[in-house]
Order: sequence, then C-alpha cells, then structure tokens
Amino acid sequence: MEKALTRAEVDVVVVGSGPGGATVARHLAQAGKRVILLERGTDHRERPYYGTHLGALIYADRGGLLFTEEGLNIVRPLMTGGATNMFTGSAARPPQWLKQKYGVDVDVEVEETIKELALDRLPDDALGERSTRIMEAANSLGYDWQPLMKFMRPSHTARFDCGAKCMLGCRCGAKWTANEYVDDAVAAGCELMTRARVDDLIIEGRRVGGVRGKMGRSARFEIRAGVVVLAAGGIGTPIILQNAGFFEAGHGMAMDTTTIVYGTSKYGGISSEPPMSVAYTDDDNGYMLSTLIDPWLLYPMINVLKGIKYPFTWFNYGKTMGMMIKIKDELSGGVSLEGRVSKPLTPRDRYRLNHASIVARKILVRAGCDPDSVFVGPLRGTHPCATVRIGEMLDQNLRTEVENLYVCDASCFPESLDRPTVLAIIGLGKRLGEHLLQDVLGGAASGGPAMPPVD
Ligand SMILES: Cc1cc2nc3c(=O)[nH]c(=O)nc-3n(C[C@H](O)[C@H](O)[C@H](O)COP(=O)(O)OP(=O)(O)OC[C@H]3O[C@@H](n4cnc5c(N)ncnc54)[C@H](O)[C@@H]3O)c2cc1C
Repeated sequence: MEKALTRAEVDVVVVGSGPGGATVARHLAQAGKRVILLERGTDHRERPYYGTHLGALIYADRGGLLFTEEGLNIVRPLMTGGATNMFTGSAARPPQWLKQKYGVDVDVEVEETIKELALDRLPDDALGERSTRIMEAANSLGYDWQPLMKFMRPSHTARFDCGAKCMLGCRCGAKWTANEYVDDAVAAGCELMTRARVDDLIIEGRRVGGVRGKMGRSARFEIRAGVVVLAAGGIGTPIILQNAGFFEAGHGMAMDTTTIVYGTSKYGGISSEPPMSVAYTDDDNGYMLSTLIDPWLLYPMINVLKGIKYPFTWFNYGKTMGMMIKIKDELSGGVSLEGRVSKPLTPRDRYRLNHASIVARKILVRAGCDPDSVFVGPLRGTHPCATVRIGEMLDQNLRTEVENLYVCDASCFPESLDRPTVLAIIGLGKRLGEHLLQDVLGGAASGGPAMPPVD
C-alpha cells in the first residue's frame, strides 16, 4: 500500500549528492538559504563493509553489473557523495576549450578549490616504486609523464595506504569525497533526505515548482521549491528530465571510454600503489594514459569479459602492471527510459583506442613487462556525461529553458573532457551557487533552517 505523501517547501531543492549537488547545496546552505538535498542512495561510510568488495556490490548500481547495450561495463555508485566514493582521487583543471569555445569560465572557482582542499601531486616517495618506473620508462621513450594532482591528502591519515582498493571506497581517510561537502551542507542547515529518489518535476507554465519522487519503496514525496538543481549524474539527470517531457535529454552521451592494458613484470605490480599517481595526456590524439589496476577480486571478474583464459592471469596479479587508457570519445548513443544506456564506439573512437593501446604496450614493455604477457582489457565507462549539454539544453549559467530549473553535474559537459571530471564539476557547482545567490535568490539569508517535511 502506498504511504502518505510527504510535502515540504524550501528555497532550493538539489537532487543528487555527488560533487555537483554537494557543492551547490553547501554553497547555498552556508549562505543561509533553505535547502533540501535529495539522494536516492544512503550513507554507507560508517558501515563495516564500506571500502570492501562487498561494499562495492552494495552501493554500485546493479551490483556493478550495469552494462551498455554494446557490453561496456559502467561503474555507477549510488550513495551520498556519488561516484567520488569509488573514484581514484585524481584531479585535473578543466580544459581551456570550456572557456574558449563555450564561454564557461570556472578558473577562479577551480583555483580556490585547489587551495581549499590542498590538492597536490603526491610526494615522490608516495607515488609508488613501480608507477615511478612506468613514468621513467615513458619519459625515456619521449612521452612526457608527470605526477598527477590528487584529491589524496597523506597528511590527513596516520596510515596512508592508498592502492587499487581505493576504488572500493577509502578506508584510510586520505581521499577527499563529496561526502565532506555533504557534511558541511548539513552542518550549515541543509536537510539531507536519503533513499529519496526523484522521478519527476513539477512545472507550472514556464517555471519549475519543485520535484516529486519516492522515499524507500513506497512513500511518495513532493517538495516545492523556488529553484531546482538537478545533479543526479550523467545517467540520473536525463532520466528525470525525460520523465518531465524534455525529449532531447540523454540523446547522445560521452563516457571518456576506458580500458586497461596489463602486463606482467619481474619488478612487481602496482596493486598496492596509489591509483593514477602518474599520467600523460595526448590532446592531439585525444587520450590520457595513467597507472591503474583493478582491486584484486574485480580483476578476474572484469577480465572474464575479455575471454575465458584471461581471469587466469590473476595468478600473476601481484606482478601485474596496468595502464589505463581514457579516450576523448565522440557523442553517441544515449540514455533511455529505465536507465538503459547505449554507447557505441565511432570509427574515430576506435582509432584513438588503438593508438593509445600501442603506446601503452610500448611503455609497459620498456618498464619491464614481458611482451607476451601484455593484453588490452575489456572496455568500461566511469564518466557517463554530456547528456544534457551546455550550448544545447543549457545556457552558460546551466539553466534549462524552464525558469529556475538548473543542471549541475557531469551531464552538462558539452563534450567529453577526457580527463578527471570532479574538479571541473566542483568549479561549476561553486559558480552556479554564486549565480543563484546573486541573480536568482537574492544574497540575503532566508533565516531559519529548512522547513521539515510535513506528513
Ligand atoms: C571507478 C571510478 C573512478 C573515477 N575516478 C575519477 C578520478 O580519479 N577523478 C575524477 O575527477 N573523476 C573520477 N571519476 C568520475 C567522477 O567520480 C564522476 O564523473 C563524478 O563523480 C560525477 O559527478 P556528478 O555530480 O555528475 O554525479 P555522481 O557523482 O554520479 O552523483 C550523482 C548522485 O545522484 C544520485 N542520484 C541519481 N539519480 C537520482 C535520483 N533520481 N534522485 C536522487 N538522487 C539520485 C546518485 O545516487 C549519486 O549520489 C571516477 C568514477 C568512477 C566510477
């Protein structure tokens, strides 16, 4: 039986607590606005399974078995903090074309975030011995690899032990996640509702009036708000928009399509070293390379997709080096109702993947991998994005054609970033928060905490 309708009324409702939603909610709550943050997952951080393989099964969409129609595996964490729970903590400034081609300038917000979170490359002795070896091998071949800026703060923990397992969730406390911004927002008076899945929008004439959805399995809720910010991620946001009648949402997407090239080395593997501590970007050919290997149990599971013999390479896991390829993929496929995703590779995508694979193989062999052991793993996607694009469905302030309805997450990228996304998303969130304060809500605090839901 359906439970009672829960109603509330606030200044702003933010949907999704990943880096996009958490940043906007925090900014507005700290300015005294009445904000409700709705998150379809829950907070697993204090659970004993957080940061384990079991945990990843629990908070990844469909237990990690989300695939595109073409068979590409998508990792999509659904919990407070969104995908940053499972991200590798890499940071990159947004590409210059975002400003030059689309007029979206987040330089100030990005630099402020780098300072605020003390983002930096890891010190030399924390990069990892074998990762450093790979970087040196690459440099000796003429590829300019460098340590990557990280959302990892070795000084925040007594025991910095970042390795491949960081992608299950950080247990040592060094990795920043968007949960920190969610906590800040709540401390400033934002009301966080978890297990609250938004399904539809209330639209009155040309203006947004709020959102509707379900709490848990059956209780329905309706939140009325002057401003709605959708930040449910590259898959979640277009689904909500489609339900509300935006037929262009989710038509075409980017994924920064990814694979890992593996090889066995007598010098040992990289599983206990921080993921993506060193990297290389080839903007001309449209890809990024960095050091990465899956956590030990995921390694054989994912490589089953490559072919029956590949899971058995697990016996060499301790000696395996991995190099991740992330390509700047073209817009294709998209998201359709019920979250079905299609992401076919275009001929250009295939060319880029092959180009990058050849370079990765050369570097791994130079770093000491047995040439016969090198293979390219299955394709996957960790950056579903560009489904509600700036310049098409959104203006430069991230507003839709409906008044006071905004989008602030990876879905608003106009094209694939082909690099870590989170720093850019935080920049967009801060910029949107400030725009809403200055131009939409008025700078003054609303006074008082968010109104509690009324049954
Ligand atoms: C394994 C992995 C490694 C990665 N490594 C890096 C990295 O090193 N550096 C980097 O910058 N990026 C990395 N990324 C990508 C990065 O984490 C994502 O691009 C980023 O988190 C996207 O932010 P977002 O705000 O768009 O959405 P998300 O982080 O996906 O957050 C969306 C939130 O909305 C919630 N939601 C969805 N639908 C609804 C709904 N209907 N109602 C309410 N809530 C909803 C979800 O539960 C989720 O919490 C990685 C991602 C993965 C999966």
